[in-house]
Amino acid sequence: MKTVTAKKFVGAIDQGTTGTRFIIFDHEGRQISSAYREHEQIYPEPGWVEHDPREIWEKLEVVAGEALDQAGLKSRDLAALGITNQRETVFTWDDEGIPLHNGIVWQDRRTADRCEEVEGTKIERVVEERTGLRLDPYFSATKIEWLLEHVEGLEEKIEEGEVHFGTIETWLIWKLTGGKAYVTDHTNASRTMLFDIKKKKWDPELLDFFGVSRECLPDPVENVEVYGDVSGLEPLEGVPIGAALGDQQAALFGQGCYEPGEGKNTYGTGSFLLVNIGDEPIIGDRLLTTIGFSSGGETKYALEGSIYSTGATIQWLRDGLGLIKDAVESEDLARSLDGNEGVYLVPAFAGLGAPHWDSNARGTIVGLTRGSDERHLARAGLESIAYQVEDVLRVMKEETGRELAELRVDGGAAENDFLCQFQSDISSIPVVRTGIFESSALGAAYGAGLAVGLWDDLKELGKLIKTGNNQRFDPDMEPNQRSELYGQWKEAVKRAKNWNI
Ligand code: ADP
Repeated sequence: MKTVTAKKFVGAIDQGTTGTRFIIFDHEGRQISSAYREHEQIYPEPGWVEHDPREIWEKLEVVAGEALDQAGLKSRDLAALGITNQRETVFTWDDEGIPLHNGIVWQDRRTADRCEEVEGTKIERVVEERTGLRLDPYFSATKIEWLLEHVEGLEEKIEEGEVHFGTIETWLIWKLTGGKAYVTDHTNASRTMLFDIKKKKWDPELLDFFGVSRECLPDPVENVEVYGDVSGLEPLEGVPIGAALGDQQAALFGQGCYEPGEGKNTYGTGSFLLVNIGDEPIIGDRLLTTIGFSSGGETKYALEGSIYSTGATIQWLRDGLGLIKDAVESEDLARSLDGNEGVYLVPAFAGLGAPHWDSNARGTIVGLTRGSDERHLARAGLESIAYQVEDVLRVMKEETGRELAELRVDGGAAENDFLCQFQSDISSIPVVRTGIFESSALGAAYGAGLAVGLWDDLKELGKLIKTGNNQRFDPDMEPNQRSELYGQWKEAVKRAKNWNI
């Protein structure tokens, strides 16, 4: 039997796009228990995606209770609670906590036309310079604008001072504290397209342009600080809420990327590569700039490259082509060849994200011969994941003037040794698989533990992470071969671009 010492545990809420997970970690950062529930994806029209805030709140109660029961713990055993969440999704609710509409999810494209209208105007430049983002329906601002225009009676309610807008951590913290804390953390605020990331304040010009009044928005707060104690959810009653971070920033924190030049890549359906760039934001036009985390008056910025199809490429080989039954099989198939034999797959199924930003690019396979078969496609699919990450790494290097010392990796496809080795070869840097699977939840837990003194500082957290079972892949490819392969990849990308016109 495990001995359970009071207040040595931290709870993390991981509120994701498909579901909500509650994980309990111990003082060594080990996962003690975990519970998960999916919630409904609501598609009112093609291209629209909504979530019901009430359902997310109800599921949280279930998973928190279940994870505590599994661990044999009570809320009094938790030193603190951290939150990590899907970013950009917007909820709105009134003073009583009644949602005024379903939440509009980050994937929702209903404001694409509105963004096109604003393109090329001065506001587009303001968005880029002050928020570090690109004008895109992905972010929260045009979603709030849509709600303001379409929810009946909202204007009157706003005049009466009864309306709240917020990203998911804001909704959860508000509910968890019984309406006492109306706050948003710096990383989530960074994704709204309304937030000046240098001043760390709502930007008056953007608020004005999108018609959002300051009174309907939460107060921006640091990522690591106590926002209040839970007083509105039975299983977590009394636990201090000590941290909130958007999912990708939480993963950066959970992977221990606390120093400038440290970065991580998550190989999921798509990929998110984030690199800590230190105390000053670097604003360019090929990557997003965002707050990485803030704590104790210090702010670390990050560059972020989002790639749309990485693990999804392997899903396509499995479900679209039926070449494999399981993603794991892609590894043996790829290894059964000595090289790619000139076959490249550019998985621009939904266009290309960072650093190309071409929504008209489409999936392309080049270099097929009569001898090509499933081995070539599997290899080209896996290689394409690494090439796309390398595309982002090169731009990061140009914009920061420095190279990463190593790339920490997580996510489902990072389980693939061939991919990790090829990434290391093509990018000529060590790839470190840290063995941290729930890096976002762990990041939130670390933040919350720091806020209440369970851990002293980032140094202590860094040590905790280093004791994990890291697996390292070192570069083992001749420079000539590297540049030849990468050069051909670039040619293949050219052919995929600008197709859907
Ligand atoms: P998400 O959080 O986006 O759902 P996950 O981190 O769970 O993603 O990773 C799932 C993705 O990883 C899927 O797209 C799957 O195709 C891919 N994947 C899983 N295992 C492997 C593997 N061994 N090799 C290559 N890709 C894999």
